[in-house]
Amino acid sequence: MTFPALFISHGSPMIALEPSPARDFLLQLGQTLGRPKAILVMSAHFETREPCLTADAKPAMIYDFGGFPRELYELRYDAPGEPDLAARAAGMLIDAGLKAYRVENRGFDHGTWVPLKLMYPDADIPVVQLSVEPMKDGAHHYQLGRILAPLRDEGVLIIGSGSLTHNLYAWSRGPKIKDAPVEDWVKAFADWVDARAEAGDAQALANWTTAPYAKENHPTPEHYLPLPFAAGAGGEGAKGKRIHSSVEYGVLAMDVYAFE
Ligand code: ZN
Repeated sequence: MTFPALFISHGSPMIALEPSPARDFLLQLGQTLGRPKAILVMSAHFETREPCLTADAKPAMIYDFGGFPRELYELRYDAPGEPDLAARAAGMLIDAGLKAYRVENRGFDHGTWVPLKLMYPDADIPVVQLSVEPMKDGAHHYQLGRILAPLRDEGVLIIGSGSLTHNLYAWSRGPKIKDAPVEDWVKAFADWVDARAEAGDAQALANWTTAPYAKENHPTPEHYLPLPFAAGAGGEGAKGKRIHSSVEYGVLAMDVYAFE
């Protein structure tokens, strides 16, 4: 079975506990897609200067957030790793002329375990994490996806986990009302992405800094870059279908895309 490449907005880690439309969507997404052989996730919370892949057979948990209820720190996602897949993916990147490193003792960060706990709660599918490289541009992340896209033909589910919009300053300044009206600058950016994704305009998605309100929605790029990665992993000419759309706190777009 060949799965589409996904871009998932993982939002606040509280999505693991609190009801929301985005949580409801992720809760059924795994069943809708079916069961992959393995999952390769680029997480916005695994930041490096060169591509790194996690190679632990039994990855630990990373609670890389602060100030949340204790219940959140008690959640676990004990999926196995798959060192062979990490090695293969690293080999594909190296064969394409890029650098790639396998790293050990690097557990699942919340960009990985929060959405997967909702999608595949049994935690019995092997998971490998790929880093995001905030010093590099969208075109580089698109290229990473293109190189790894053939893994989809082997039943690997490829995911870019970030956030369609991610201005935490605006969130902290705001009223913190979950269903607050959507800010115009958030909608303008989300609409721009949707039009480009639907048109299969990978070049525009990669050159995203010219999009309306790009800097306002992403003061730093790490939560956007998994999107051009997913677009690339969808394969040449892939189109992106928006399979979920919601906004939390007026500023955090929780959109999910399937590229194929
Ligand atoms: Zn995040």
